[in-house]
Amino acid sequence: MAETPEKPKSHGRLKVQVTAVPRDLMEEPRHIKGAWVARIVTLFPEAFPGTLGLSLTGKALDQGLWRLEPIDLRPFGEGKHRTVDDTPAGGGAGMVLRADIVHRALRQAAIGTPADRARWPIVYLSPRGKPFDQARARDWAAADGITLLCGRFEGVDQRVLDHWGIEEVSLGDFVLTGGEIAAQAMLDATVRLLPNVLGNAASTEEESFSDGLLEHPQFTRPTLWEGREIPAVLMSGHHGQIAKWRRAESERLTAERRPDLWEKRKG
Ligand code: SAH
Repeated sequence: MAETPEKPKSHGRLKVQVTAVPRDLMEEPRHIKGAWVARIVTLFPEAFPGTLGLSLTGKALDQGLWRLEPIDLRPFGEGKHRTVDDTPAGGGAGMVLRADIVHRALRQAAIGTPADRARWPIVYLSPRGKPFDQARARDWAAADGITLLCGRFEGVDQRVLDHWGIEEVSLGDFVLTGGEIAAQAMLDATVRLLPNVLGNAASTEEESFSDGLLEHPQFTRPTLWEGREIPAVLMSGHHGQIAKWRRAESERLTAERRPDLWEKRKG
């Protein structure tokens, strides 16, 4: 509600209950038994929680509705400098993360996790992977947790991927410098589907992709802005007509912008 700034948001982080517990204890995330867990093997554990520490995903993290366990790859490295990479076999630019070193980190990540990959997927973030989508976010949210391996440089020695039967998943058809941003994006999409993370449970049912369509346009007050009005039907209070309008707009946008999704729906 844009015009009622005095009304506090129900999901604000500052809205904590009055308590006598010291501040440092209050900030310890709560541990809920059986909470969804993300283990991230990364050379940059300090990149986490990143944006996942903000807003609804951050609040859910504080509440213990899910847990984030970065596993630093560096200590698994060798020698004085804890080296984790080496030059690519066959030549070429860049460095490749070593199989033996990634393997040790993955063994650590596997401790106490179920062997069934449906319950605990092990994923390498990779531009060669299957594109991430809402269906996958739903599958992951239904699991107990996940292990995500973030690559850097030219990537990871293929043998460790084969040895573990790791699935590769891509954020999209572009190349990032590391898997951390992709991991955060995919975790954000997944965590918001966990029970109780979003205040309004209905909001995940109506949004883009949930039924193979893009979402209809959204409006809020002021009703007239820069000469532009909110479509009259949305102000009519007529729920049947509003639903019909939204549906038609969803279909129009999907057909226009995403013929691939539109074809899949019709097919
Ligand atoms: N040489 C590789 C790219 C390496 S980019 C190739 O051409 O396929 C370095 C790391 O960034 C990768 O190991 C991967 O973990 C991550 N990364 C890059 N692009 C990504 C994408 N689109 N989706 C997910 N992870 C990506």
